Amino acid sequence: MTVEADRLAAEYFDTGTLSGLPADHFIDGRWCPPVHGRTMETFDPGLGRAYHQFAAGDADDIAAAVDSAVRAGRDWARTRPAGRGNILARAAALLREEAPRLAVIESLDSGKPLAEAEGDVAGAARTFEYYAAAANTLQGDSFPLGHDYLGYSIIEPVGLTAHIIPWNYPLSTAARGIAPALAAGCTVIAKPAEQTPMTALLLAELLHRAGLPAGVCNVVTGTGGQAGAPLVRHPAVRHVSFTGSVQTGINVMQEAAANVTRVLLELGGKSPVVVLADADLDAAVEGILGAIFENAGQICSAGSRLVIDRRIHGEVVSRLVERAESLTIGHGLRRPQFGPLNSVEHLSRVAAHVEGARARGLSILTGGRPTMDPQTGKGWFFEPTIIDAAPADDPVVQQEIFGPVLVVQPFDTEEEALALANGTDYGLVAGVYTRDFSAAHRLARDIDAGQVFINEYFAGGIEVPFGGNKMSGFGREKGLAALDAYSRVKSVAARIGG
Ligand code: ADP
Repeated sequence: MTVEADRLAAEYFDTGTLSGLPADHFIDGRWCPPVHGRTMETFDPGLGRAYHQFAAGDADDIAAAVDSAVRAGRDWARTRPAGRGNILARAAALLREEAPRLAVIESLDSGKPLAEAEGDVAGAARTFEYYAAAANTLQGDSFPLGHDYLGYSIIEPVGLTAHIIPWNYPLSTAARGIAPALAAGCTVIAKPAEQTPMTALLLAELLHRAGLPAGVCNVVTGTGGQAGAPLVRHPAVRHVSFTGSVQTGINVMQEAAANVTRVLLELGGKSPVVVLADADLDAAVEGILGAIFENAGQICSAGSRLVIDRRIHGEVVSRLVERAESLTIGHGLRRPQFGPLNSVEHLSRVAAHVEGARARGLSILTGGRPTMDPQTGKGWFFEPTIIDAAPADDPVVQQEIFGPVLVVQPFDTEEEALALANGTDYGLVAGVYTRDFSAAHRLARDIDAGQVFINEYFAGGIEVPFGGNKMSGFGREKGLAALDAYSRVKSVAARIGG
């Protein structure tokens, strides 16, 4: 894995691009050039330069994908779930075989360190394995109507599903939506983010090679406005899975409302990591670092607020500062511990949040400025940043920054910790570090979030349902809950005579 990935990384640094990258949409089981011939550029955030061109699709490309998916939908819905599962299992095997190339492309397109991209590809393979098996679990109920009646339910696929994918986890988010949708018997049109279109395209082609019939999974690339909006508002689409910002989620929900299309929204977060005084501080420090500096903090479920007992605040914060300052920064393909932000626009958004905190006189313990790859003097980097003792109503506490910025909120009592943890409009995840079993589960019960991690931030896997409360969205992905999201229940009640 490492040898092949490093060979591809060397190819990129030698040539400025990679051979064999997709440039077209993937529609009806083949590469399709954009109807209107328009293209756009995708960028390498580590060097701040364009490295490839891809299709800038619009409503006409979406129409072609919808035609194909509608044609393919009937047979796919009638394919036995075990047969659907076999194709997903072959896709998982192909993902593992092609992991080095996929990881390099993911790292290049998103900027994330190669090791993280390798983890994402392994996670995507695991997602397909899980839903390959889970396809067999879709079953209905029978209802107790008495001797003269027969009552039962049929689990049906919802039909054509749209998947609007963000730029921070392009392959993993595509996989976690597409795999359960296919397992449930739905067809798919995915629209990856315009910043990171590559791996969703490669996934669709790989699924086709795994035996997925033409038209069952299509990928159309382009901007949110030109390609995403026409997809979401297309009347043939029966479900939209959207992962992205709150405002775009609201727009998507409004567009989908016109056709009464169901939506699953996975939006932002401002997730707290609550550390009680009795916690294992080594584990807590490791967990907090990963929670906020993995993928340079560009994670919906990042632990961006450290809610910490004042008695251990000084010690933990000084250890965090030391560790943050020792992270190696660099181009994702050179295997750093910390990579760039995904785009220059996003870099200025993150910088503006921190400038605001500075102007309001908050204490920035480390970081706080844009920076560059020390090896090349290039790239869209922002320093790992820790802001201390921010008031609960400060914008850096309330607003999602989506970057490597940890905000510290000390507390004196468990009651206060809970109030701080719940004190934003978001409710995606929370972390709790303590050795006190009852305190851990009291907080898990009382924190308003879709999931709570105890003593290991990001604990869990594809088996665990994932989604938000409040402004973080609704609906659950992952786990068997995702199969429900892509299924609908038909009830049949019959009088059979007495
Ligand atoms: P960001 O602001 O960080 O780019 P967005 O939430 O706007 O994040 O983007 C997430 C995804 O939503 C991307 O694939 C983007 O192209 C898409 N998108 C943006 N606007 C719309 C829209 N109006 N309809 C459908 N998809 C959209």
